[in-house]
Amino acid sequence: MTCPGSQPISDNCVSIGPFVLLKSVCCPVLLMGQGIGCPEKSRKSELALNQSMRKEEDGEEHREEAVERGAQQLRALRGVADLNNGAIGLYNMGLSCCLNSLLQVFFMNTHFTMILRRIRVPIGHAEQKESVPYQMLLLLEQMQHSKQRAVYPQELVRCLTVHNLKLFVQYDAAHLFLSLWNLIKNQITDRELADRLTTLYTIWVQEYLVCQKCSFETRRDSNMVTLPLPMFNARSQRLKTLEDSLHCFFQPEQLTDNNMCLCEQCERKTPSVQGMRLTCLPQTLTLHLKRFCYRKSSWTQKISYSLPFPQSLDFNQILTQEQFHPDAKEKVSWDDVKCTYGNSHFNWGETAYLLVYMRKNPQ
Ligand code: ZN
Repeated sequence: MTCPGSQPISDNCVSIGPFVLLKSVCCPVLLMGQGIGCPEKSRKSELALNQSMRKEEDGEEHREEAVERGAQQLRALRGVADLNNGAIGLYNMGLSCCLNSLLQVFFMNTHFTMILRRIRVPIGHAEQKESVPYQMLLLLEQMQHSKQRAVYPQELVRCLTVHNLKLFVQYDAAHLFLSLWNLIKNQITDRELADRLTTLYTIWVQEYLVCQKCSFETRRDSNMVTLPLPMFNARSQRLKTLEDSLHCFFQPEQLTDNNMCLCEQCERKTPSVQGMRLTCLPQTLTLHLKRFCYRKSSWTQKISYSLPFPQSLDFNQILTQEQFHPDAKEKVSWDDVKCTYGNSHFNWGETAYLLVYMRKNPQ
């Protein structure tokens, strides 16, 4: 994810390999001079919403069967494009461009929207206005059914403001993603649905420490929602590709001299090797490129150089060759994405922050 603004999106995921990149291709939509029309929501929208939720429940088993049979294989297997042809875009409101891009990425993920469509609708008006998942659901309905060219996410933005995510603030994409994700998860009252959301996004890793004297290993399982990937290696050299960055992230580190740790077995401080293993990948993998480095005091510097990323990632090999699938149904071609995000001639397109990959074969 890189950029400001948003536009109507379509089934623009390409497939090849176990993980495919979910792209949100955006361009600035700045229509701030226009009046903000009254959104088409309230009773009508809620009725449509409830109907679609019932349909969702009734039809879920049929849809899964259809996936099994291979019907609509491209769309279902990738789990993308709930906002398929005909869905409209979002207007930018007070630096909401980053938010708009994130919303589109969420809404394109049918695994996510299936969860969203099953949430329990808050009963009271006040509760509805403050419920992030409910407001997202209303917005999704508007984007799919409104006759307008695009919609303002004003109700959702108001709701987020209540939860301290304010307008006219330039957010770091990863920070905003995590804040939004946590709000959604914490406000879903159905425990099973909240667990499904957690499973959908959570990356499981195992941190380990191996004593170099006795080989005793200590392990600790932990998890995260985004994988924070470095732009430089341990010797401050620029990493050239996403695969390099992944490789660097999982590279073990030697702890010697002042960095030695206490070994339970040796009962003293010994040289050791510290590292992290990937133990479980989620259906939706979010990679966070750490594009800020911290200098003196609180001053930060943006690392704006381009880092090429592949169309698919095969974690069995960590490093994969980019492949091309001739049958891929692309509205937006892979070449377009490469051009947009990796070409220095486009000033706004060279600094991707978040890369969202989808597992090609659902678990
Ligand atoms: Zn030891």
